[in-house]
Amino acid sequence: MSSERRYYDDSYTTRFEGQVVALGEHAGKPALELATTWFYPESGGQLADHGAIGALKLVDVQVGHDERVWHVVEAPAGDAIPASGALACEIDWARRFDHMQQHTGQHILSAAFERLLDGPTLSSTLGAERSVIEVGLAEVDWRTVGRVEEAANRVLWEDRALKLHWTDDAHIGEFPLRKPPKVTGRIRVVEVPDWDWSACGGTHTRRTGEVGAIKIVGWERLRGNVRFAFLCGGRALRDHAWRTETLLEAAKRRSRSDRELVAHLERALDERDELKKRGRAHVRAPVPRVGGAVGRLRDDRARAVARGGAREGRFGCGPENDRARAAGRGARQGGRQPGHGDGGARRRRRRARGFRGGERSTREARGVGSEPASASHPHRREPCAPSLPWSRPC
Ligand SMILES: [Zn+2]
Repeated sequence: MSSERRYYDDSYTTRFEGQVVALGEHAGKPALELATTWFYPESGGQLADHGAIGALKLVDVQVGHDERVWHVVEAPAGDAIPASGALACEIDWARRFDHMQQHTGQHILSAAFERLLDGPTLSSTLGAERSVIEVGLAEVDWRTVGRVEEAANRVLWEDRALKLHWTDDAHIGEFPLRKPPKVTGRIRVVEVPDWDWSACGGTHTRRTGEVGAIKIVGWERLRGNVRFAFLCGGRALRDHAWRTETLLEAAKRRSRSDRELVAHLERALDERDELKKRGRAHVRAPVPRVGGAVGRLRDDRARAVARGGAREGRFGCGPENDRARAAGRGARQGGRQPGHGDGGARRRRRRARGFRGGERSTREARGVGSEPASASHPHRREPCAPSLPWSRPC
């Protein structure tokens, strides 16, 4: 006996009394069969419902080869799973409604690709985080994507009421289906008026306005087609929120407007590439030998530039760069305890003891844990590194 599936005609019932008719197993987990169910089993690219059956946690719903619907459950420790009887059932509505938004949105978006670009939807998957459709298109760009998105969202703004039709093989030809049905016999057709007709057994919203929004968030070439990732409803809103926050914060840290940020980053990358090129040329050029600390300093600088030090702003000016240099010296000299190689901290301690330029601390006078003054702050005697957009002004 297979369950009566009530979600076909009613996607909005969230609580009902379920009559357990069998206790079985699915993928090694206990599963219940109900005489009648509103729980949606994973199928047609849509994920299964979650919820509760009595005190049991519903974690999956699957259809067996014999078309029986199995409700996979987890019982609290020590509780037995009943093989019969009536149990109060509740669907996780937040999850279900999210799936309804994605599914209805997918119908509308697929129809938009077909209507505007003559691009058929070859497959679709409604994922837990984002959904994808593979469309028969050779190429696409953001401008074209924008046209498709606007056409699809206009259908939402018009808040059209969806219609459900039951038909059969003999009459299915009366509907202008976007693609042929995958099933035979009794067939359900979901209609978005004046927009789309699809043979589908999933759950959908009553009206297009409940989808909220449809947003394409990426695409990739696949098998000669284009696979689009998209978000609908609450997912689209949450995605927009974090992207907005990220973009505005990034622009704020560069003291730019969000619309200037991409051009700013492109200039920064060009400057970085130029600095790397100049750094390599500088290392290759013959350098006259200079003895003492100044010579060591120049050699260190050339090697660091070649390693990409300039890219990281380590030869800029300012306290952060002082600390970076001091940390680098500490690592090269080895043996220092953490914190003792921090030039900034050492200067602060010296200032606290009243140290002034021209004097040397007792520790430095003994030559312990310090470097000759001429090499301590080489950046103060040299011109600043070229102004990098991501480095602080000198
Ligand atoms: Zn559908």
